[in-house]
Amino acid sequence: MSYKRVMNKAAVPSMILGLVVAVGLAFGISTRAAAGACVAPVFDDGSHSHSLAARMVEEYGFHITFAVISQPMIEAGPSDWHLSVDAVRALRDAGHEIACHGRTHAALTELNPSQKADEILGCRQQLRDTVVDPLTFVYPYGLEDEKVIEIVRAAGFIAARGVQPGLNDQSTDRYRLYSYSVMRDTTPVEVLNWITQAQEQEKLLILTFHEVVENPSEISITPQNLRDHLTTIALSGAPVVTLTEGLTSQTCN
Ligand SMILES: [Zn+2]
Repeated sequence: MSYKRVMNKAAVPSMILGLVVAVGLAFGISTRAAAGACVAPVFDDGSHSHSLAARMVEEYGFHITFAVISQPMIEAGPSDWHLSVDAVRALRDAGHEIACHGRTHAALTELNPSQKADEILGCRQQLRDTVVDPLTFVYPYGLEDEKVIEIVRAAGFIAARGVQPGLNDQSTDRYRLYSYSVMRDTTPVEVLNWITQAQEQEKLLILTFHEVVENPSEISITPQNLRDHLTTIALSGAPVVTLTEGLTSQTCN
């Protein structure tokens, strides 16, 4: 199915969603952008479906974070599951942040110290050599331990994200950032509730996404799901930021 076709099909359900969210907003949910109430969507794994996701995100004027796995990126051709170096450069050139998601996506807690370093420093070096010097790290499977954090911090990453649910503020450990996962069965109302909590508590909401495909697995979503979630975020009025912006911008702190 072409991109254009997906967009046309999206129009009517998005109108309905708009009404649902508008009703939610009318029942006391503030659209005022409170300081600290930023939303940072992060797409994990560097799936080729993220080229489509990026175009949809850009239609809303958002710039977000894509966490890529460096070794398969380097080896990927144009039609492989993983984004190629050229495709990741295109995301960078469109203004998105590229984060490190490990050299091979190994579970870091199951490795010895030199293997951990190879995964973390190898990812940073491969991204530096091909795309950009990455500032943020995303733990594969959300798994970290003291040694992993020590290596990530020493490597110069300013922050790292896991998959423990929660919101972030100045007191949150920068190397144990919380996020809510947007999965196949996550509804726009759930996303709106997380944003509302972030706005009420003036905190940074990080949303974790995976693949964006027509037949999603449990942890993935459809293009229509993504459009609905992006519409919800846009209607909430919360600023949308990259992970680095979320941690460094005056707007979010
Ligand atoms: Zn992953």
